[in-house]
Amino acid sequence: MTKSDNLPEPNPGIMEIASYVPGKSAVPSGVKLFKLSANETPLGPSPAAKQAYMERAGSLEDYPDGSSSQLREAIAKAHGVNPANVLCGNGSDELLGLMAQCYLQPGDEAIYTEHGFLMYRIGILGAGATPIVAPEKNHTADVDAILARVTDATRLVYLANPNNPTGTYLAMSEVRRLHAGLPDSTILILDAAYAEYVRRNDYESGIELVAGSNNVVMTRTFSKIHGLAALRVGWVFGPDHIISVLDRMRGPFNVNAAAQAAAQEAVADREMVDKAVAHNDEWLTWTSEEMHKLGLRVTPSVGNFILIHFDAVDGKSAEGADAYLTQRGYVLRLVGGYGLPNSIRMTIGTEEACRGTVAALGEYLKA
Ligand SMILES: *Cc1c(COP(=O)(O)O)cnc(C)c1O
Repeated sequence: MTKSDNLPEPNPGIMEIASYVPGKSAVPSGVKLFKLSANETPLGPSPAAKQAYMERAGSLEDYPDGSSSQLREAIAKAHGVNPANVLCGNGSDELLGLMAQCYLQPGDEAIYTEHGFLMYRIGILGAGATPIVAPEKNHTADVDAILARVTDATRLVYLANPNNPTGTYLAMSEVRRLHAGLPDSTILILDAAYAEYVRRNDYESGIELVAGSNNVVMTRTFSKIHGLAALRVGWVFGPDHIISVLDRMRGPFNVNAAAQAAAQEAVADREMVDKAVAHNDEWLTWTSEEMHKLGLRVTPSVGNFILIHFDAVDGKSAEGADAYLTQRGYVLRLVGGYGLPNSIRMTIGTEEACRGTVAALGEYLKA
């Protein structure tokens, strides 16, 4: 490369983005890896999904169905929604980013919460708009704090419910109160990536709210409970006018054929979802209790992961724990990038992974 004062310049906002750092997966050679850093399911996908994926190998020369129509039908059937109001994406990340691309421009504002999912900030900055961060209370989204930050320039509000990396959630009554306080011209984006895992009577993913409003969308993913993170499939449910906007901007073949085929089977496999929920219920509870016994504070989680805090433990730190656990094959996720410098997030893995992590953390705290 030659030196020049005249380099091509990217669009405003892009150089303010810190690149997303995925959960790591490297351990010393010869050590068994337990990857608990990216909230993947320990049970894997539905066997029918895997089969459908492999069958697609026979026709790789054909373009996929550009509108993912059979997959949208399968999603619509499983969730009781109109397929015309569903749009599929290359992971829900694509759809969260598309919302920013389609609805934000320089001068606009978009709100997310203090420990909200990092992809929101990336999408907002990438569109040249201004990210506005609403503080949380007890690591939980605070509706009043969000509403207090709404201005004439607010176009989007991103809310992960439940949130990653905190595992906390808002009751549907609070989500409705948030929606009621927004102007009609502001879109509320409910990111329900972990909805299936939640076992609370006051929780809803937001399907009814979307169906009854003109300014709410809900995103879902096949990466978490459905075990298809490698294939990148997500979907958004929204009103006609928003779906029509996103449909113009998405890539014409944004979801590949094998992903469509596998996801279609996964969403229809109720039994597999129930199995994953039951596993999570058991081991989320067990692991949270064991962490308390070790003297560690854990934020109560409704997802498939827990946030463990080290601030009350003398001489021990999240980074120290991370290094100790990684040496032993347990790879968790440091969350300094989320404004939580002395906490670590652990995905609920297999029984072996949960027991092993608890035992290793106990050794670390004694060492
Ligand atoms: C994992 C996750 C997603 C899913 O992203 P995909 O692109 O669908 O894999 C979305 N939102 C949150 C909060 C997540 O944690």
